[in-house]
Amino acid sequence: MEKKWSTAADELVCPICGTLHNTSAPMHVMFEKEKIRHFLPPAHPRCRCTVIYEEIAGTNTPNAWQNPRESGIMNHVDVNEYRQDLYARIDSKNKPDAYKQKLKDVFEYLVSQGYIFSEHALGRVVGQKTGKGKRNFTLEEVLQYLALPINYMDGDMKAVRFYEGIAIIQALDTGEIVSIISNLEPSTRWKKV
Ligand SMILES: [Zn+2]
Ligand SMILES: [Zn+2]
Repeated sequence: MEKKWSTAADELVCPICGTLHNTSAPMHVMFEKEKIRHFLPPAHPRCRCTVIYEEIAGTNTPNAWQNPRESGIMNHVDVNEYRQDLYARIDSKNKPDAYKQKLKDVFEYLVSQGYIFSEHALGRVVGQKTGKGKRNFTLEEVLQYLALPINYMDGDMKAVRFYEGIAIIQALDTGEIVSIISNLEPSTRWKKV
């Protein structure tokens, strides 16, 4: 999967967007041309640009649900199937009903924001344990970091946003947020992008 910058292609397109028009980049890399760099549109307020996702031969055809503008990643997940599965797994847990409901509520809120969180990642947001020198984080913080560019890769298929000691791990094949780790330093396994 690659992304391609696309302007409205009319006389109102500014020089910044005009420069990036039709440039392509891998999903986790910034668009870059003539020293202009952006991860995704909008390049500025009222920017009308969009991104076109291009399937590369041999990769899976994406499923119905996608929200690349928010996530920067094409989601290859059918949200209805995912929800059914997730709810069944949550319901089978030996946990208080209020906790189970909280997991579902947070999942739905994140879907409304354009993100799919795995059960594990939801648990990290909802059921954080305090102490042990761990940095705690809020859902708002997680959403804030998700809007920032991917800055590390964990292997070829996992993108990492590592900001202020919090690492958010996203699977590039599904777009799912699979884990959130409070690391004080980036893992030595990651490669900077
Ligand atoms: Zn522009
Ligand atoms: Zn634009």
